[in-house]
Amino acid sequence: MTRKLNEMTITEAARALGARECSVRDLWDACMDEAKKRNPELNAYLELFEADEEAIAAAQKRIDAGDAPMLCGIPLAIKDNMLIEGHIASAASKILGNYRATYDATVIKKLKEAGALFLGRTNMDEFAMGSSTEHSAYGVSRNPIDPSRVPGGSSGGTSSAVAAHMALGGFGTDTGGSIRQPAAHTGLLGMKPTYGAVSRSGIIALGSSLDQVGPIAKSVGDAKILFDAVRGYDSMDATSIAPDFYAKAPEKKKLTIGVPRHLLKEGIDADVLAHFEETLSRLTGEGHTVVDIELPTSSYALPVYYVIMPAEASTNLARYDGMRYGLAKRGDTLLDDYVESKTAGFGPETIRRILLGTFVLSSGYIDAYYRKADAARNLLVKEYMDAFSTCDVVAFPTTPSPAFKFGEKSDPVSMYLEDVFTVTANLTGMPAISVPMGTVVRDTVSLPTGIHFTAPLGADDLLFRIAGEVTGETL
Ligand code: GLN
Repeated sequence: MTRKLNEMTITEAARALGARECSVRDLWDACMDEAKKRNPELNAYLELFEADEEAIAAAQKRIDAGDAPMLCGIPLAIKDNMLIEGHIASAASKILGNYRATYDATVIKKLKEAGALFLGRTNMDEFAMGSSTEHSAYGVSRNPIDPSRVPGGSSGGTSSAVAAHMALGGFGTDTGGSIRQPAAHTGLLGMKPTYGAVSRSGIIALGSSLDQVGPIAKSVGDAKILFDAVRGYDSMDATSIAPDFYAKAPEKKKLTIGVPRHLLKEGIDADVLAHFEETLSRLTGEGHTVVDIELPTSSYALPVYYVIMPAEASTNLARYDGMRYGLAKRGDTLLDDYVESKTAGFGPETIRRILLGTFVLSSGYIDAYYRKADAARNLLVKEYMDAFSTCDVVAFPTTPSPAFKFGEKSDPVSMYLEDVFTVTANLTGMPAISVPMGTVVRDTVSLPTGIHFTAPLGADDLLFRIAGEVTGETL
């Protein structure tokens, strides 16, 4: 039986397009038809775009000429915080509900050059703050594997769209886990590149020292294709890294995997941990080595993140004041204008982070909170650097448990605990990936789990190698 076109991986679709087994139009229609069918239930897309006939014809022409890049003619899902010229980019916030992008993010420019097509903009937690997509101002997205559960967040719209085959692949942003955690909850691969590997120009900022754009994909090969298409130096982003920054992947075939077992003692579901141990044994069986490592400061990573991230978010969100972009309410005084615009435009989680961030940066508390967190961040980097002198990658489960039900983590701290394993890669800037590692049963439904690998700064390619070892894919 042949698979439906929208169910293919990008790698398979590119081959089918090249072999003239389908046209770009067929592929677009297959994804769009599925999206029209399933999106009313899943709310993965906030908006589905009209077909761009010119782009479809141009992609077909390049394929017919025989020199098309892998992404040529491939329909993708794009998170609603990435600017696509002429389209609304709302970051799932009311305050940007009517904001139309006047230029393309560098990532979008690169994808257009590669001939990729955009199906629509995907739902997310407002300004990417959250781990469930429940903080969107436009309703929750649902997990296609079990629609009574969240698809993860904040890139939950993209993970839901790709997992439901409403796109062949897609992009999210990751400030503390928002690519890797939704990928884990929907059975997909999600990769957060080295900080600076992908341009942040044209991406709606959350925590500027933490944010990175990265792929959510059905296979390791697809994740690599998507990452390779958008990586690279960009003079529009002052934190962009030069190509010679990238570490050379180790030549040796067998890798040493460091496991900080002291972090895995509590708070993780037993069956998730069992899958993790099984995956490690399998890798050991294939000749890789697993060693214990110590990352003592990692137990403070979550509180450190939840000081630094709101600090940066409160600074970035100060620009939404009812004057320059989006929603503009008018009161009796200028102060009323600000207060009314922000009150009407921001949701509760966004307001919480602004308050938190403003507090930790205030002159009375900056030493006690922000500067301490910043010092701990430097310590984390050092500990990871030291760990990488004894291992090639660091492994732990991506999340402590599988996808949860709506409302289950309504207490903000329990929601923040979802990120316990993912935030460190953002604090250190190191690249990390989540790879499916088997399912666990909850309420009779099999739910996916993910194994998480962190690599040294610039060793992004190593992540695809170890991911391939887990899935059995040869790249
Ligand atoms: N869940 C984390 C937070 O709420 C991470 C979000 C993200 O990576 N964008 O901040």
